[in-house]
Amino acid sequence: MKTPERAAFDALPHPTVVVVGGGFAGLEFIKRLAGKPYKVILLDKNNYHCFQPLLYQVATGSLGADNIAHPFRRTVGPMPNVIYRMGEVLRVLPEENCVETDHGKVAYDHLVIATGTVTNFFGNQRIAHEAMQLKSINQALDIRSDFLQEFEAAVYLDDEHAQRQRLNFVIVGGGPSGVELAGALAEIRKTILKHEFREVENQRMQIHLIDSGDAVLGNFSPKAQQLSRAFLEELGVNVKLNTLVTDYDGKTVTFKDGSTLQSTTVIWTAGVKGAPVQGLEAALEERPARLRTDAFNRLEGCTNIYALGDVALDRSDPKWPKGHPQVAPVAIQQATHLAKNLLRKPGEAWVPFAYRDKGSMATIGRYKAVVDFGKLKFGGPIAWFLWLFVHLMSIVGFRSRVMVLTHWAWKYLSWKNTIRLIIRPYVRKEYKVAEPVGEKVG
Ligand SMILES: Cc1cc2nc3c(=O)[nH]c(=O)nc-3n(C[C@H](O)[C@H](O)[C@H](O)COP(=O)(O)OP(=O)(O)OC[C@H]3O[C@@H](n4cnc5c(N)ncnc54)[C@H](O)[C@@H]3O)c2cc1C
Repeated sequence: MKTPERAAFDALPHPTVVVVGGGFAGLEFIKRLAGKPYKVILLDKNNYHCFQPLLYQVATGSLGADNIAHPFRRTVGPMPNVIYRMGEVLRVLPEENCVETDHGKVAYDHLVIATGTVTNFFGNQRIAHEAMQLKSINQALDIRSDFLQEFEAAVYLDDEHAQRQRLNFVIVGGGPSGVELAGALAEIRKTILKHEFREVENQRMQIHLIDSGDAVLGNFSPKAQQLSRAFLEELGVNVKLNTLVTDYDGKTVTFKDGSTLQSTTVIWTAGVKGAPVQGLEAALEERPARLRTDAFNRLEGCTNIYALGDVALDRSDPKWPKGHPQVAPVAIQQATHLAKNLLRKPGEAWVPFAYRDKGSMATIGRYKAVVDFGKLKFGGPIAWFLWLFVHLMSIVGFRSRVMVLTHWAWKYLSWKNTIRLIIRPYVRKEYKVAEPVGEKVG
């Protein structure tokens, strides 16, 4: 028997919108349709929204996983016209107007694809297997366990070479994720390793940040690039630019020039590619694996299927001929925009999407951050406080905001990170040739 709430939802005389993915785009979209004349079904394989910009803080023990995740059921609870179903969408069947999930079929009148991205290893299967990723909470917790396990293992080693191999942390990709992770690991060397692992010479821990381009933070202004590199080097991070990683076997990183580096931990933040679901190949742009849309977020060749956020590729804006950047503000603005268009009266013309770029920021460690806001480009403590404020205010859920603020206050006032627990040890799996590329978000 149906609960009265479920019966009331089923009885709504509105068209059904199925939303696949509750990331920045999907979550904003359902909020905009709450209380409006649509029946909304949110499908996500996880039961929570993940605030990806702070994943690196979970990976380095500054925040707990639950501080950056918010359960969908808490969000949709007060929304009578929105329901959530946990499940992975396996394919879309456009001719039947339904999606196939691991729990069965779900029918739609309108379909919104907001599935985000997965790590891009550019086809290198061995690196995909051996390197760690930072796209999901599971992966962040793996990194946290791994670096603590490496520290614990290093304590047992007398041989300097073996110890250095354990304590060499290699981050591939000098974008915001790589830079922020490198800065946080450098602070861990200065605090945790130095004070709590006294049997290990802390300078044996080395952090290498590798990028194939000629600057870190490739999409930022030259000023932000120079400042962030200076901040990283001040913290003792080895920044290697114009350097291409060609292989990694779990112990040795190989570069294009033939040189090598010994390391048991490589974290790959060098790129992402779209995570489209099967059945939409007609609109799929293979190389970035993104779904082509028009200026109304509508999938090429479809009348009732839309794509939002990182997975969408809209080249209609002359300011963004290669498509919009894969960042949270684009996802949020597209979601707001599509909801407004769907709520227009019949016959009213739809408005094309135009992205308002409000700037970028990245933090490199305590009191160190860079900000690009239009013509305003600066770095240092003010940028850092601004970074803290913007990220705190963007986190979903009042409880999470309070928790994050408390963690940060404790961390930054006491110089002590709080979470150094290996709850779920990270276990490396043996690499078998021709196994599927491990690019799925866990
Ligand atoms: C480490 C890191 C740091 C970042 N830092 C910043 C930053 O500082 N500033 C910034 O603006 N951007 C940042 N980004 C980028 C930003 O997080 C993305 O642009 C944003 O998350 C895109 O939102 P989205 O809704 O398109 O996808 P996502 O937020 O990735 O959400 C996709 C959702 O779809 C679900 N999903 C995927 N496939 C399926 C399926 N088949 N079935 C069911 N559910 C599915 C996933 O579980 C997920 O909930 C960062 C990203 C990472 C990884």
